[in-house]
Amino acid sequence: MPSTIRKESGRTRSASLPDPDKTRKSFTWKDAERLLDSLPGGGLNIAFEAVDRHVRAGYGGQTAIRWLGKGDAREEITYADLAARTSRFANLLMAHGLERGDSVFALMGRVPDLYVAALGTLKAGLVFTPLFSAFGPEPIRTRMEIGAAKVLVTTEALYRRKIAAWRDEIATLKLVLIVGEAAPEGCVVLGPAMAAASPEFEVAQTQPEDRALIHFTSGTTGKPKGAVHVHEAVVYHAISGRYALELVPGRVYWCTADPGWVTGTSYGIISPLVNRVTMIVDEAEFDLERWYETIKREKVEVWYSAPTAIRMMMRAGAEAAAPYDFSSLRFLASVGEPLNPEAVVWSNKVFGMPFHDNWWQTETGGIMIANLAAEDVHPGSMGKPMPGITAGILKRTESGVEELDTGQIGELALRPGWPSMMRTYLHEQARYEKCFVGGWYLTGDLAMRDPGGRFWFVGRADDLIKTSGHLVGPFEVESALIEHEAVAEAGVIGVPDETAGEVIKAYVTLTPGFEPCEELERAIRGHTRKTLGPAVAPREIVFRNTLPKTRSGKIMRRLLKARELGLPEGDISTLESDET
Ligand code: AMP
Repeated sequence: MPSTIRKESGRTRSASLPDPDKTRKSFTWKDAERLLDSLPGGGLNIAFEAVDRHVRAGYGGQTAIRWLGKGDAREEITYADLAARTSRFANLLMAHGLERGDSVFALMGRVPDLYVAALGTLKAGLVFTPLFSAFGPEPIRTRMEIGAAKVLVTTEALYRRKIAAWRDEIATLKLVLIVGEAAPEGCVVLGPAMAAASPEFEVAQTQPEDRALIHFTSGTTGKPKGAVHVHEAVVYHAISGRYALELVPGRVYWCTADPGWVTGTSYGIISPLVNRVTMIVDEAEFDLERWYETIKREKVEVWYSAPTAIRMMMRAGAEAAAPYDFSSLRFLASVGEPLNPEAVVWSNKVFGMPFHDNWWQTETGGIMIANLAAEDVHPGSMGKPMPGITAGILKRTESGVEELDTGQIGELALRPGWPSMMRTYLHEQARYEKCFVGGWYLTGDLAMRDPGGRFWFVGRADDLIKTSGHLVGPFEVESALIEHEAVAEAGVIGVPDETAGEVIKAYVTLTPGFEPCEELERAIRGHTRKTLGPAVAPREIVFRNTLPKTRSGKIMRRLLKARELGLPEGDISTLESDET
């Protein structure tokens, strides 16, 4: 295990939380609320806290978003511009007769209109759901159905490729706004509609418990779950960005996550703007030289990224980083998957400071466990619970749960009560309630706490797959596989991969009349890429005569995985048929 990186030896200093242990002891939620203004006349609204209040306070001229387009295009959007554009968007929604609580979906890359749509929706008191633009038609449709989408904001190309064929089947959908020049039939071009709308809008008088965002996340069984978040989440977005990411007003900050995933919204839109930083938004995908050049040219101070990208940087070697000036950097953080200890040590060498791993999930809405700037980094550890957060390691028992001692592996759990926690799973209250046992929220992750109070990630307690930082539910992939005429049954698992963390592998049995061959494997993979999108489709498909199943007919993914990895098969007393 690489040794501890001591803070006094490095360049990272905390501007916001110099003595975390002291703050952990004294912290109350009032400390967090002090970072906010509340709506004039009462109430709480995320968009007001993120944008309009800064304009009122005289910071309208500060750049809120510096957008870097795929080529050389750039756009500076000040807080005043963002206030006006989000007001136009809110007015546009109102003009179409939308009402408080209605659901607005966005499907597009990282373009300015995505950020305007997110904040404009919140300003109007409507509920926003971002979708990952690399999703195929199936995941998009399922999520829009569950979320009863009333509005979709997308581009012409994405609409034609992924939506048009089934749009009429979403009965709730009233309005499709198109970012770009021309709108297909039945859609409205966003640009002229925005230009015709007023840049003045009185922010909706939302209350802390009013719904604000729905983020879809995968389950091991059944359809994706819509985690419901409310406006009060902004209290946690404000303080956690300040404490865990060192977001202080005026800093230049770059979060590389896409808003289609929760990090790209909580810490790629809300938290940074609430903390009045200047955000870099890069439309392009990972490109080593472009990333290094961006840090240098834009003088990025705080950089929040993910292990898959960091591993790609490592693969290119320290030499690739040598020509660049990284002296602007003050703090680096990583989230989403286990960050290898070597990556922490490597980044300390190359950037002069380590990546600080932190842990959270869609349901928690914000960072729960973190390596903070003022604390020594133990490479491989996720850090300690944030001020205001209590974490424990539990074992499930017949009667409930039992807390485990230091050094023991169990399920990572949190004491509920922080502001950004989900309030329910949309239409699935029972599934939500199942997450809570004995006064704890059980996260589905396995972890261990060391004597210093730091938490170490061990693995998932369920079958969910993390590939390139994206959480994928095997059920959704299996469902797409069995839609193919040749596939009778499918079992999907994640297998370790040096760069992506895990990649998706599928085991299938064939329907009578089909024979295993390379061409068929390609055809089935092609089908899943088309319906699910490349981020969710299996990388590899293996044919089998039978799949291991329980007596009740459930495919035993755990066993497929143990066999794939050459691990002990564990308890197979429920195994029914198996000839593989
Ligand atoms: P998501 O809800 O898509 O953000 O995924 C949340 C899951 O990602 C967690 O439950 C973990 O399994 C994993 N995860 C997030 N952050 C970390 C981390 N720092 N180390 C290890 N796993 C992580």
